[in-house]
Amino acid sequence: MQNVPLIDPFARPITYLRLSVTDRCDFRCTYCMSEAMQFLPRADLLTLEELDRLSSAFIDLGVRKLRITGGEPLVRKGIMTLFQSLSRHLDSGALEDLTLTTNGSQLARYAGDLAACGIRRVNVSLDTLDPEKFAAITRWGKLAPVLDGIAAAKTAGMRVKINAVALKGVNEDELHALTDWCAAQGHDLTFIEVMPMGEDMGDALRLGQYWPLTDVRARLAAHYGMTDLPLRTGGPARYVRLNATGQQIGFITPLTHNFCESCNRVRATCTGQLYMCLGQNDMADLRAPLRASADNAALTAAIRAAIARKPKGHDFDYSRAAAPAGNVTGKVSGQMPRHMSHTGG
Ligand code: SAM
Ligand code: SF4
Repeated sequence: MQNVPLIDPFARPITYLRLSVTDRCDFRCTYCMSEAMQFLPRADLLTLEELDRLSSAFIDLGVRKLRITGGEPLVRKGIMTLFQSLSRHLDSGALEDLTLTTNGSQLARYAGDLAACGIRRVNVSLDTLDPEKFAAITRWGKLAPVLDGIAAAKTAGMRVKINAVALKGVNEDELHALTDWCAAQGHDLTFIEVMPMGEDMGDALRLGQYWPLTDVRARLAAHYGMTDLPLRTGGPARYVRLNATGQQIGFITPLTHNFCESCNRVRATCTGQLYMCLGQNDMADLRAPLRASADNAALTAAIRAAIARKPKGHDFDYSRAAAPAGNVTGKVSGQMPRHMSHTGG
């Protein structure tokens, strides 16, 4: 039983875990967090050893790709010990890919160590190359250290993918500048459609910032020429190649494209809650079985039971965002009350 791979009720093999290691962050991006975020008591968080045990249990069950995220993963104290211990699964061949999503603020400090742990790719979130806009979007962030971090990752030999949230009226005018910069630096680039997460972030503001990627795509195609790529990663991203620059561009369009049919992933929070779908509220507590005993039998059973109820698809829909005020069930309103920093994005 232990080594039977995880297959959900819709015959989708679950081979990808995204693990949030902290809900804390040194930025307060407007679309992600409120300025006065209430963070979890530290005692609720899984320890680094528990995060390792949880990840390793999933790897034993056939997970081949592990992405460490947050909050900001690189602000978690001692985080490099987790990367160092998890790298044994790369050495053994059990894990194909160990990677992280980061805001880049601490990357200059850690890039060399991350590369030494066998991390070959890093996703860095960067929506703008303009220092003032960067400060406005992230509230607390500074652009220069992030650019230094990206340069350090490249120097350390890691492939960098820039994740840019498409924000109407914010980075619309930088579409070509950001694309050209990534082409010149040799970074991959993926655009993300802003998602309705977190009930207290000002719906009007976020809905006003919604810039459909169909439009981003059309503008890139008109300027650079574009060829669709067959590449699929089991997630919401679709890829194209820009004819003029040769670079690969991804589009993550949870709202305009239904990607659920090939979903291969689940998300665990830093407190050990397993979310089977980013767009649904159902979750399974893995911390209790993890702490209940030193062996993994109860944990493995809890993981299997959770995967057995992975839903068919998500429930995001801006057209239903005008549902009754105060509704935070996420089901009726078409919005998710959780912040992205909770489930790790
Ligand atoms: N702090 C790290 C970072 O920013 O890369 C990792 C966690 S962050 C929650 C992961 C990704 O989610 C980032 O690329 C961020 O831009 C994205 N994100 C956060 N809130 C979002 C929202 N409401 N809609 C779309 N993407 C969002
Ligand atoms: Fe922090 Fe990342 Fe959320 Fe920005 S998107 S507030 S960097 S967790």
